[in-house]
Amino acid sequence: MNLFNKLIAAALPIIPKGIVRKVSARYIAGDTLTDAVRVVRTLNAEGAMATVDVLGEYITSLSDAETNTKYSCEVLKTIEREKIDSNLSIKLTSLGLDLDAGHCEKNVRTILETARGHGNIFVRFDMENSPYTSRTLELHDKLKGEFNIGVVLQAYMRRSEDDIRTLIANGSRNIRLCKGIYNESETIAFKGRDEIRANYLRCLELALSNGLYVGIATHDPFLIAGAKEIITKLKLPRERYEFQMLLGVTEPMRRSLIKEGFRLRVYVPFGADWYGYSIRRLKENPAMAGHITKAIFTGR
Ligand SMILES: Cc1cc2nc3c(=O)[nH]c(=O)nc-3n(C[C@H](O)[C@H](O)[C@H](O)COP(=O)(O)OP(=O)(O)OC[C@H]3O[C@@H](n4cnc5c(N)ncnc54)[C@H](O)[C@@H]3O)c2cc1C
Repeated sequence: MNLFNKLIAAALPIIPKGIVRKVSARYIAGDTLTDAVRVVRTLNAEGAMATVDVLGEYITSLSDAETNTKYSCEVLKTIEREKIDSNLSIKLTSLGLDLDAGHCEKNVRTILETARGHGNIFVRFDMENSPYTSRTLELHDKLKGEFNIGVVLQAYMRRSEDDIRTLIANGSRNIRLCKGIYNESETIAFKGRDEIRANYLRCLELALSNGLYVGIATHDPFLIAGAKEIITKLKLPRERYEFQMLLGVTEPMRRSLIKEGFRLRVYVPFGADWYGYSIRRLKENPAMAGHITKAIFTGR
């Protein structure tokens, strides 16, 4: 990240919310579930599948966790009722992991039972920052025999290769592999672009060659090319994996993968709590700094 972009990233908290919202509009379906359904329908018409995420990450009470649980259940019922091609992604901290692990498990079970009762919809546990890695994997391990679920591994984490071996050994079926979005210390995470890419491809090959279904979540052309090479080498049928991208990101690449016949899923966040999500995405991508300054100066 160059100095200019670093300065913009540091200034994000003081940038007026209205401007952040304008810049973020393409990355978030909208405030309501109706917005999410509309966006998923458009994606389905393009040939993409979706995974819906209710924005509600930073909670302070168990009653917030209950609200998020109800909302996720509402999403599941809507997916079935509206017959849209989507599953659900959840974050355990938004369901109370940090406040009361037992309560969180109860909330997760409520969501998973709803998913099972509405067409056995798949539910993905997103991976958050390192204090939650083991607890997320443990809960996934505990529930995977009962429900249609999967978890996420982050290629920047040094532990991920071992975690994948454990997932293979314990009979897990489905992972999403991404680079990882949080700022982790060098003691536990790879920091360099090339070492993260190398670990991504190592983890991907390990997972695919051992029968795990993988959501290959990246917009990095280098990794997409590497993934295609592994897929060809292993002679994998297209039902054994899918590509995944975030809403509003690298759309031409998304369309070209669909055109090539690959399964592709788009992550569709929605909800009134859009600010935290936007700030993370904006900090993550230096190029966005330019969009923010443009919005500041032009008001568009
Ligand atoms: C479907 C999906 C689910 C995810 N789930 C998780 C999760 O559970 N936990 C987690 O830690 N992380 C998650 N991530 C985020 C992920 O870890 C990365 O931070 C993010 O995808 C960027 O990495 P990249 O592989 O696309 O490579 P990068 O090198 O970051 O990006 C490659 C190129 O893609 C474009 N690009 C990437 N991001 C953006 C953006 N935000 N805006 C505009 N352009 C962009 C740029 O052109 C960039 O040069 C998820 C990502 C995806 C796609």
